[in-house]
Amino acid sequence: MPHSMPVDRAIFTGSNGVRVSVRKVAIIGSGLMGRGIAYAAAVAGFETSLHDVSSSALDAAMAQIRVDLDEGLARGKLQTADAKAALQRLAPVQDLDADAEFVIEAVPEDIALKLRVFARLDEVYRPEVVLASNTSGLSITEIAASTKRPARVVGMHFFNPVPRMKLIEIVRGLDTGEDAIAVVAEVAQRMGKESVVVRESPGFITSRINAIIGNEAFFMLEAGVASARDIDKALKLGLNHPMGPFELVDLVGLDTRLSVLEFLHARLGDKYRPCPLLVQYVRAGRLGRKAGRGVYEYPAK
Ligand code: NAD
Repeated sequence: MPHSMPVDRAIFTGSNGVRVSVRKVAIIGSGLMGRGIAYAAAVAGFETSLHDVSSSALDAAMAQIRVDLDEGLARGKLQTADAKAALQRLAPVQDLDADAEFVIEAVPEDIALKLRVFARLDEVYRPEVVLASNTSGLSITEIAASTKRPARVVGMHFFNPVPRMKLIEIVRGLDTGEDAIAVVAEVAQRMGKESVVVRESPGFITSRINAIIGNEAFFMLEAGVASARDIDKALKLGLNHPMGPFELVDLVGLDTRLSVLEFLHARLGDKYRPCPLLVQYVRAGRLGRKAGRGVYEYPAK
């Protein structure tokens, strides 16, 4: 996708004839995900405002976006002029930018907070504006019900690190309309991403499958079927996975994986019962790379 062109005012006509235009995008929350999403939006040519309640979070976000742009240049993904233009399209803001034509929320995963934020977004943005949430697992239906536009509330689930990861899961809540899904798909495409549409359900597609693979790997390790290194090697070389399940869980965090499994276990049943060995590792503080020790050891450099 050519990155240097600003986005024209694109007009989408949905099944009910509603026309929506997106040129300007607002990102709400400038943490790990919000800053990556802002990078993707600005590089794709959208006028982008990045909002946070914390000015230090905004400063850190802008610094990280500059690093990501440099990396894009170093990897040959961007030209110098594209990186400059992307920065010019990007505005860090502490007040909501009411002009935006599409909103992506990326505040912490806390339902009470998301309900409050969406009620506020609903007041600020024109009724036709689609409000998307990057939630990893909260109910889009419940979030939508805090607004007067449930048909225009949709999930837009990005992956970390956003600049590199190609996929977006578009999540359909009970009342999400086709127009909202079409708008997200179009914005995703303009960002150079691929999207899939999934009905609101625990773990969507990716976390649900990944949790099973990761949990099964721990059951195999516990039963002495093979060493951790050999299980990782087998999945990489035999099944073409880019990382082994233990390398991946060490990166994600064993505590995070355990809480995903507990959530899926509560909703989807026994298939997702966390392996006792994983629980034991978490109790021992073997949380992965961030702790210096997970399935593997990571000596401090
Ligand atoms: P984070 O904690 O890094 O960032 C959240 C940001 O939101 C912070 O900068 C915080 O200051 C800001 N914030 C808090 N309240 C706010 C408010 N009322 N208005 C505006 N900004 C506010 O969190 P994150 O890891 O970026 O996660 C954000 C969302 O993305 C969560 O729903 C999470 O589940 C989802 N997600 C995370 C990942 C991941 O790998 N971390 C992947 C996919 C989806």
